Amino acid sequence: APLVSLRGVSKTFSNGTVALKDMSLDIGEREFVSLLGPSGCGKSTALRIIAGLGDTTSGTIAWPGAGGDPFGKHQREIGFVFQEPTLMPWATVFGNVWLPLRLKGVSKAAARGDVMEALAMVGLEKFADSYPRELSGGMKMRVSIARALITRPKLLLMDEPFAALDEITRFKLNNDLLHLWETFGWTVIFVTHSVFESVYLSSRIVVMAARPGRVFDELSIDAPYPRE
Ligand code: ADP
Ligand code: ADP
Repeated sequence: APLVSLRGVSKTFSNGTVALKDMSLDIGEREFVSLLGPSGCGKSTALRIIAGLGDTTSGTIAWPGAGGDPFGKHQREIGFVFQEPTLMPWATVFGNVWLPLRLKGVSKAAARGDVMEALAMVGLEKFADSYPRELSGGMKMRVSIARALITRPKLLLMDEPFAALDEITRFKLNNDLLHLWETFGWTVIFVTHSVFESVYLSSRIVVMAARPGRVFDELSIDAPYPRE
């Protein structure tokens, strides 16, 4: 069964903008799916709806691969990474990555092992005591990724996470992300308008047309790394 299944999802905002129209899509466990399309085609709207951050106007979202329970149990298993790293400037790298656990009542001492493990995944364990302003753009993005991974999500939703970075940093982070995905085997839904990024990263590309929300094609390509 697919992890998440969208059927005929449409979204019209209150100002009349049609962001998605009749979008249907199944995403299986351990897939790395890119949503590719030009600005304004509804990629972020689709991602937010999958994340439970926005309602649909019509259509359904089901989680057959997650016991049918979308939110409640499942929501904690979703990690988000947005284009802006949105780190708290007054907290250290450790404090930023700890936050999702802290909100669940996990003390600093109890969280230490998990936080340091997440920082090690993104190569920043030596920067636990640094503040965001001391870090480069690429490092801040890696802290955001560590923060998204701290709750060990099954599903990682990424909305143009590397768009603000220079090309070399972006390429490095693409490689890091692929390596993490290969190692940990999450399901990833990755919003991008970069053809290069989608081809390089994905096991499947969903191309969305400029006409709002029409999923007009899907391309299946071989995963660039072997998968189980
Ligand atoms: P993409 O991520 O592909 O750039 P979005 O999903 O952000 O596209 O937006 C799809 C369309 O919906 C765009 O025309 C955008 O202007 C519009 N839109 C997005 N959010 C809102 C909102 N909160 N209210 C009204 N229109 C919106
Ligand atoms: P960007 O290129 O966006 O500025 P990078 O993540 O590539 O960001 O890092 C920029 C610089 O920060 C690197 O050249 C390196 O000197 C330093 N740096 C980044 N990550 C580490 C790390 N894990 N350990 C030590 N230095 C690092």
